[in-house]
Amino acid sequence: MMKVSGQQGWLLLDPPSSVGHARRASIREKENAPNAPFPSIDLILLSGVIREAGFSPIYLDAQIRRWSWEQLIARAPGLDAVGAVSLVSSGRLDEELAQLERFKRALGGALYVVAPISLSLSAERCRALMEQHPWLDGLILNIAENDFGPLIAGNQTQPRNVAVRIGNDIHLPSAAITYVEDLHIPQPVHAIFKDSRYYFPQTKHAPVTCVQVSFGCPYRCEFCLDNALYRRMSYRRVADVIEELVEIDRLGFREVYFKDLTFGLNKRVTVEFLEGLKSRKLRLRWLCTTRVDVATARLLTLMRQAGCYGVEFGVESGQQRRRALNGKPIPDEQIHEVFNRCRQLGIETTAFVIIGFEDETEEEIRATMRFIESLRPDYVSYNVLNALPGTPLEQRARAEGFLQDETNNHSFAASNLRHKYLTPEQLEALRSEAVRSFYRRPRTTITRLLRLRSLFELRKLVRLSRAAL
Ligand code: SF4
Repeated sequence: MMKVSGQQGWLLLDPPSSVGHARRASIREKENAPNAPFPSIDLILLSGVIREAGFSPIYLDAQIRRWSWEQLIARAPGLDAVGAVSLVSSGRLDEELAQLERFKRALGGALYVVAPISLSLSAERCRALMEQHPWLDGLILNIAENDFGPLIAGNQTQPRNVAVRIGNDIHLPSAAITYVEDLHIPQPVHAIFKDSRYYFPQTKHAPVTCVQVSFGCPYRCEFCLDNALYRRMSYRRVADVIEELVEIDRLGFREVYFKDLTFGLNKRVTVEFLEGLKSRKLRLRWLCTTRVDVATARLLTLMRQAGCYGVEFGVESGQQRRRALNGKPIPDEQIHEVFNRCRQLGIETTAFVIIGFEDETEEEIRATMRFIESLRPDYVSYNVLNALPGTPLEQRARAEGFLQDETNNHSFAASNLRHKYLTPEQLEALRSEAVRSFYRRPRTTITRLLRLRSLFELRKLVRLSRAAL
């Protein structure tokens, strides 16, 4: 843990978790399996905010260190921080807040929590939570636009997008996000996140870190919660992001994961960014997530020239009708074309797939498996549809009577829906079969072995396949 001497420290905490690295939304192959661990973009972005406020950001990932709550709490006084910002898991909020209260007492400083999206969307729930936990100093409601820096610097008492106490009252911003024309994101302090234990599922070379260029997604996929917080797209200044990447390269990172929900949406901004990045000739390689109908031939070519080695696509289903119903009315041929183009350009592909729509049959799921096979992606993530709180899907499932379980695990590892034709056990068996059949195919294994470029990558593949199978 690094700290700039002379400045007071603020801790950025990824606390112990009983659910693996689920907070980072990485590829999750099965319940309780270890996910690919990489640092949270929220904490990375907050590191710049804290530095700009005149403090020294300190980063602590208790999961990567395999610390228990007891170990973390025992070390709290030695962390030398005047305050902390912690992540929490939405599915384990009560349990983790109870532990964070103990941690705050041991730390002896302020404690703020980055609110999970479903919480940020409900002012009533934020208020109730703050009332229920009088020890909690506040909730950061969104990361792109907030006055957390001025708040901790003592220059702002009614901060934008941060719920705080003012005397006996609770200040709750009227909306989870206010938009500004010129988005200001202070340069993150990537040096404190450098750890050779981090990797992405697709990583070739460590160390890795995350960057975000844009916030929001204008699409309306029914199951998606990520798009709910920012209803309008906001973009960082291209020059700032390039400066950040130059610094990341200088620090010796080898790979970057762009955490934009849909990379490349604004063609003007993206072309300016990719051409600027290409001209810097960095050693860094990167991957991102986007939609098939955003990935034009020109965009993919530019991305490749600017260092892109992998793209994640939400294919969702092998059924065009089902994709259309879920916000991606993209024809089969277009998906094939984009996956083929990526292959020609030397860009690896990851297909995100959802099974377990409420009226999906076994035959449909098998057809999806065949469709995914025909795309020949390099990685596949099979997920089970779960109606996350706050999504249009949850509302419809409740209205139409197929929401089975109100207690939600907040991930796509298991379903809370009542399925018309499949039991939860049949669904899980199909998901498991889909993962195994993809990753145990001789073609997948041979391709992987032929492409191995480092011992690091070999170790990572062994770890991931153990988790997946
Ligand atoms: S395109 Fe992706 S991020 Fe946007 S709404 Fe659909 S699933 Fe969510």
